[in-house]
Amino acid sequence: MKAKVSFFILALQCSLCKAQFHTVSNGSNLYKIETVAEVPSGKLATAIIEPSNEREVCNAVSDKDEVREQLIAQYISVSYPLKNIRLNSNYGVRKDPFTGKPTKHNGIDLQAKDDEVYSMMQGRVKKVGRDKRSGNYVVLEYGNYTVSYCHLSKALVQKGDSVNAGDVVGISGSTGRSTGEHLHLTCKYKGKYVNPSILLDYVKETQAECLAQLKSIVV
Ligand SMILES: [Zn+2]
Repeated sequence: MKAKVSFFILALQCSLCKAQFHTVSNGSNLYKIETVAEVPSGKLATAIIEPSNEREVCNAVSDKDEVREQLIAQYISVSYPLKNIRLNSNYGVRKDPFTGKPTKHNGIDLQAKDDEVYSMMQGRVKKVGRDKRSGNYVVLEYGNYTVSYCHLSKALVQKGDSVNAGDVVGISGSTGRSTGEHLHLTCKYKGKYVNPSILLDYVKETQAECLAQLKSIVV
C-alpha cells in the first residue's frame, strides 16, 4: 500500500510540475518522490528545460504529464490480494491436509495472519457468505472472472458493493475447513476454475510494465 500512496503523491506532484518547472532546481524537494520510481533525482528538470522554444517545452511537459498520469492510473488499477505474497499451497492435485488423499485443490493458499485482504481490480461484490468449507468468504466479480477470498476472520464489504483495486474487502483468518490461518483464493473464468496465479502474474506484469514506462519517460 505504501507504493500506492507514493504513486498518488507522485500524481499530485506531477500535476504541480507543469506550473513549477521554471523554478525547479536539481535540488528541489519536488522530485524527492523519484527515489520511489527509481529515477535519479533531478533528471526530469534537466530533461524538460533543455529545449529552447518555450511552447515546445510546455507541450512536452503537458504530453509527459498526460502519459505519466495514465501510467499511474494503470499501475493502481491492479493490486495484489495481500501486502506480502507467499504461496503455501499451489493449485491442482495435492494431498488433502485433512484426509491425506490426493484431492484437487481448487485455488491457491497464501500465507496470511490477521492481514488486510485487497480487491485485485475494479469490480463488484457478488456474494458475501459463510459455510463449513470456506468459512467467511467474499466473492468479487471482475468481468468474466470471479475471485473468492476464503477463511476470512471477517468480511468488510457487502453484496452489491463496488470495489476498486486495493480496497480492503476483509481480514484473513482460519474460519471453515482450514488447518491454520491463510488466505485461500479461487478464481473462475466464465464459471470454470482456473489457477488464480494468472491474476497474480497479471498484477506483476502490469505494475512492472508501468514502472518501466514511467522510468523511460522521465529519464
Ligand atoms: Zn486452499
